[in-house]
Amino acid sequence: MKFNNDQGRLNCGATIPVMGLGTYSSQNDWEETKHAVHMALQMGYRHFDTAKIYGSEPAVGEALREAINAADERIRIEREDIFLTSKLWGSDHTDPVSALHTTLKNLGMEYVDLYLVHWPVSLKPWANYAVPKEEDFERVDMEATWAGMERCLDLGLCRCIGVSNFSPKKLHHLLDFASVPPSVNQVEMHPMFRQRKVREFCRENKIHVSAYSPLGGPGNAWGSTAVVSHPIIQSIALKHKATPPQVALRWGLLKGASMIVKSFNEGRLKENMGALDLRLDDQDLRDIEKMEERKIMRGEVYVNKTTSPYKTLQDLWDDDHI
Ligand code: NAP
Repeated sequence: MKFNNDQGRLNCGATIPVMGLGTYSSQNDWEETKHAVHMALQMGYRHFDTAKIYGSEPAVGEALREAINAADERIRIEREDIFLTSKLWGSDHTDPVSALHTTLKNLGMEYVDLYLVHWPVSLKPWANYAVPKEEDFERVDMEATWAGMERCLDLGLCRCIGVSNFSPKKLHHLLDFASVPPSVNQVEMHPMFRQRKVREFCRENKIHVSAYSPLGGPGNAWGSTAVVSHPIIQSIALKHKATPPQVALRWGLLKGASMIVKSFNEGRLKENMGALDLRLDDQDLRDIEKMEERKIMRGEVYVNKTTSPYKTLQDLWDDDHI
């Protein structure tokens, strides 16, 4: 099966390019981020994933605007040809419209293509940081938050709305009251965390799955090289004269997900795009199914016994196997 980069049709009518560039990096270096976005555009990446909490919105927006406004037509790109995703942080759950206005100001854009509830975690308004403290947790009122997300859509601030890090149970609850169903659930997904239940639920409910950390985040402090160094992934790569990251990405594409993969390195950006041309056979897919499963982004920071609505990781993910 040959993949085009514009394959993912969403229930909101938009098309999500299947290879997306992640823009979270702990350094959050403005020039490095911009340079990566420019290189990625030249290589055919059309989907850019950011979030208020990453701090990368201004650099991503500036690079994209430079490309949109470029005099040189070899570099120029139409805004309509870019798919831009950003996310609502927990401290903004009471007012998604204001939060998205801030995001659009950061990006210097009139709209984003996709706006996601970053986590099913609500925080006090001051908790504008990635690792909340015990006193920062709020009760989750997803019905009110989702009404705000729908308002963002009505106002034309985004083309589609969705969620991230939602279990089937949390999606089911959301669908009970949503006037507009989520278009996307962005979750950790790679050959060592295959998300079978999430994918099944999303397929049944016409929700597209985007895979974050599709390589297992090998260069991140919290990430792991376990996926790309796994003997099964290594041997499949060898067999097809491909690289382990390409195998991981291609596997996710074959499962119907779009990939949100981060690299700010020219060679690795190209290498990851090469996953579109790789072919895996049925034996490869069966071998990958044999890999032990392991969640890498476990979300421990959103769990505590006192103030968080999630007392255990099982409560957060609604899964006994985390
Ligand atoms: P990832 O894309 O699996 O891995 C990124 C890491 O792998 C980077 O350190 C990168 O370093 C390295 N890398 C990339 N391509 C490589 C290759 N071909 N060979 C070897 N190393 C390679 O994990 P991620 O960064 O955690 O996730 C990607 C994006 O998903 C993030 O940037 C963010 O946009 C999004 N995300 C969303 C959530 C959420 O809660 N919704 C959570 C986590 C991530 P170099 O840059 O040096 O190449």
